[in-house]
Amino acid sequence: MTNNSSTSNLIHSSTGDWEMVIGLEVPAQVTSRAKLFSGAATEFGAEPNSQVSLVDAAMPGMLPVINEECVAQAVRTGLGLNAKINLRSVFDRKNYFYPDLPQGYQISQFTQPIVGEGDVVLDMEDGESVTVGIERLHLEQDAGKSLHDQDPKNSYVDLNRSGVALMEIVSKPDIRSAAQAQAYVTKLRSILRYLGTCNGDMEEGSLRADVNVSVRRPGASLGTRCEIKNMNSIRFIGQAIEYEAHRQIDILEEGGEIIQQTRLFDTKIGETRSMRSKEEAHDYRYFPDPDLLPVEFSQEFVDGLAAKLPELPDQKKIRFMTDWNLAPYDAELLVAEKERADYFEEIVGLGADPKASANLILNQHLGRVNKEGIAFEAAPVSAAANAAILKMTRDGMISGKIAKELYDLVWETGKDPEQLVEERGLKQVTDTGAIEKVVDEVISANPKQVEQVKAKPQTLGWFVGQVMQKTGGKANPQAVNTLLREKLDIADE
Ligand code: ADP
Repeated sequence: MTNNSSTSNLIHSSTGDWEMVIGLEVPAQVTSRAKLFSGAATEFGAEPNSQVSLVDAAMPGMLPVINEECVAQAVRTGLGLNAKINLRSVFDRKNYFYPDLPQGYQISQFTQPIVGEGDVVLDMEDGESVTVGIERLHLEQDAGKSLHDQDPKNSYVDLNRSGVALMEIVSKPDIRSAAQAQAYVTKLRSILRYLGTCNGDMEEGSLRADVNVSVRRPGASLGTRCEIKNMNSIRFIGQAIEYEAHRQIDILEEGGEIIQQTRLFDTKIGETRSMRSKEEAHDYRYFPDPDLLPVEFSQEFVDGLAAKLPELPDQKKIRFMTDWNLAPYDAELLVAEKERADYFEEIVGLGADPKASANLILNQHLGRVNKEGIAFEAAPVSAAANAAILKMTRDGMISGKIAKELYDLVWETGKDPEQLVEERGLKQVTDTGAIEKVVDEVISANPKQVEQVKAKPQTLGWFVGQVMQKTGGKANPQAVNTLLREKLDIADE
C-alpha cells in the first residue's frame, strides 16, 4: 500500500486523531455500439425495451458471443491505468435473483479478470502527489432497470441496459480523504474520456462509484468498512464520505462497533443510511460460464492497441510542466478535460504567455463557464480573443483591470477585443502628463490622507485606487505609483 497519509488529512478529535481509509469500485459503461455478448444497440435514452436481443432477454437456448471491441476497450483502459494486461481471463456467472436480471445470473469476471494491478496519480491543490493503486478491472454485463413510477399498482422492467458492457474498476484502499476520492474519480473519468473507452457521463449513469469507507487510528490496521452504493456525482461523493467517516468515529468513540454494511446516501438530508448488512449479503455461487471460452489474445494485440493510444492526461501534464513551467496542480486542472487543454494550447500557440494563459483559463474563463452553467465548448470567448486580450495586457495597451472587463464585454457582445478597445476607448493611459493631472487633483482634494500616508506609507494604495477610479481604470498603475511617490515624497519599496 502506498503512503498517502499526510498528517493534514487526519481528523482531530478530543480522543485523538483518526484517519479515513477509502477504496472505490467504479462501474464504467464501455463505449461500444453493441452490447458485451449481443449485437443490440446501447444508445442512451431509447424507448424502453427497444434495444433488446434474444440473448439480453435470456430466451432459452440463446448463446452469448463476446464482442471483440469491448475486449479492446478494456485493454486500452488497462493500458491507460498503467496496469497489467492479462492475456487470458475467464468469465464467470454471478448468480442472484432480481426482476431486472432475466438470466438469473450476471456474466462477470471473478478470479481471473482481464486487467490486473495498476495505478492512478493525483496532484492535489496543496502540492501533495498521491498514488492510488488499482486492484483490478474486470468486464461484466449491466442489468436491466425496474421502473416503479409508471403505474400505481405494477412495476415494469426496461431491458435496454441488460447486457451492456461495464468495466468494473476497483481501487486499493489507498485513499485518505474526501478530496482525494473526488480527485480520483475526476482523474479516472478524465483518463477514460481521453481514451474514448467510456463517456464518463455521471448523470446518465455511464460512470458511477461505490465508495468504501472505514476509519482507524493512524498506523493501526484496517477498520471495518461500509460501502456507499451508486454515487453519481463527485460533489455528493465528497459529502457522503465526510458524513460516513464522522458517523463511524462517533460510534467508535462511544465504545460501539462498526457493522459491515451497504449504505445509501440521501442527497436531500446529506446522510447515509443502511440498505443491507453483511448478514443479508448474497452468496453469488460464482462458477465459470460454460457458454463462454476463456478470453485469450496475444501480446501483439495489446502492443497494437498501445501504439495507437492518444496522449493521456499525465503525459500532457508533464509536457505542460516541462515546456511551459506550469505548477503541477495548474497543469492537472488544465489537462482534466481535453477541450480545456486544447484551448490552452491554442492560446499559447498564438503567442500569449503560458502562465498568464493558464491563470486566465482556470480563474476567469472557467469561473464564467461554471457560473453560466454551460459546456466549455459553448463559451462565446474564443481562444483567439483571449490570446488578443493577454497580448494587449502584456504590451501595456490595457491595464489588468480593463483586461478583466474586456473579457466580459467580449463574452456579452461577441465582438473582437481589439475593436472593443478602440470603440470604447479602453486604452491604458501611459501619457504621464494626463496621469499627473489626476494625481495632483487627488492629492489636493485629500489633505488629511496626505498627512496619513506620510506617517504610514503602506496606505499609498488608497491613493492609487483613487487615481485608478478617476481614470476609469485606464491609468498605467506603475506610472501612477511612481508619480504618487514622487509627489508625496515617499521612498520606493
Ligand atoms: P471484497 O473482495 O470483499 O469485495 P475487496 O477487497 O475487493 O473486497 O475490496 C472492495 C473495495 O473495498 C476495494 O475498492 C477496496 O479498496 C475497498 N476496501 C477494502 N477494505 C477496505 C477498508 N478497510 N476500508 C475502506 N475500503 C476498503
